[in-house]
Amino acid sequence: MAKKDYYELLGVSKNVTADELKKAYRKLAIKYHPDKNPGDKEAEDKFKEIAEAYGVLSDPDKKARYDQYGHAGVGGAAGGGGYGGGVNMEDIFSQFGDIFGDESPFGSFFGGGRSSGRRGVRKGSDLRIKLKLNLQEIAKGAEKKIKVKRYVSCNTCSGNGSKHGNSLQNCTACNGSGQVRRVQQTMLGQMVSTSTCPTCNGEGKVILERCDVCFGEGRMLEEDLINIKIPAGVGEGMQLSMSGKGNVPSRGGVAGDLLIQIEEEEHPELKRDGTNIIYDLPLNFVDAVLGKDIEIPTVDSKVRISIKPGTQAGEVLRLKGKGLKEINGYGTGDQLIYVNIYTPKSVSAEEKTVLEKLRDSPNFQPKPGSGNRSIFDKMKDFFN
Ligand SMILES: [Zn+2]
Ligand SMILES: [Zn+2]
Repeated sequence: MAKKDYYELLGVSKNVTADELKKAYRKLAIKYHPDKNPGDKEAEDKFKEIAEAYGVLSDPDKKARYDQYGHAGVGGAAGGGGYGGGVNMEDIFSQFGDIFGDESPFGSFFGGGRSSGRRGVRKGSDLRIKLKLNLQEIAKGAEKKIKVKRYVSCNTCSGNGSKHGNSLQNCTACNGSGQVRRVQQTMLGQMVSTSTCPTCNGEGKVILERCDVCFGEGRMLEEDLINIKIPAGVGEGMQLSMSGKGNVPSRGGVAGDLLIQIEEEEHPELKRDGTNIIYDLPLNFVDAVLGKDIEIPTVDSKVRISIKPGTQAGEVLRLKGKGLKEINGYGTGDQLIYVNIYTPKSVSAEEKTVLEKLRDSPNFQPKPGSGNRSIFDKMKDFFN
């Protein structure tokens, strides 16, 4: 495919000024920008073509070569560096992003170029621990003291890694900025990139003599006792984070976070269902018939409840507010008591005699339609 004339592509004359060229490119770049033409391959190609044209014509050197030798003078079709090859969009954006300045109609898309001047504070790595809690702790919230091995700042050198904390100087390679600018001549013109200074690893300072406590690391591995407050209502797999309780990075910066993953210990009698607590009550058949006050466990204590005479298997009783707190909201769940009638597996001869007498007694004859529905139906009633 024959390459299009760069001047034609940008719609400018050979005597175009730098300003006019910039304007022409800007206008076309906005028109063919992939953000405005999602999925439009033609617009994308056009966008690449004009970027290539602008790259050449905005560079006086290349423009001169192009004027004299045409495409061959600036790499030609087989030049490898042309956009006909596999150059990706990010390259275009990072190279010409600044042309839009703060008026960029594409906001963050071109924004990458602008943030390069900022130097971020280094952050240490996060620490992860698992924390097992029982149901009572989950219900009430808990405070735990946990020993954690983590990197903390060296006191002797205040974390900078130099002897007594003052045996360092500004890096001469980057003048203490931690970053080096590199100006490169590319096919598309001058390209300025900033990268981490290799001399000081981006720290801006070099150590003359090392701290002999931390050996220049600026940090030490220590056992730290951390007080963790757990809000009520947390659940299995939830992650809490304590900022600044992770590792301090070497030679200064802010500590990472301590990430605490919650594990739930199983309760022998109570099960959790969201904020509700489920308790399976095995009820003596006689108690179900005659009624009785019985004691059952809840998350915080034992409570007495009244079993009414004539309680059916599969009935669900509710203790309002005896469940768990919503973690981030208002309200508390309930404790649900599922009634199961306990059937003895064997009986003595005496017991048998008593039961045999009851077998044919009129009140013990199930009436048609009086059978218990399945527990699922009961549950449906319950939640409707
Ligand atoms: Zn030190
Ligand atoms: Zn440096």
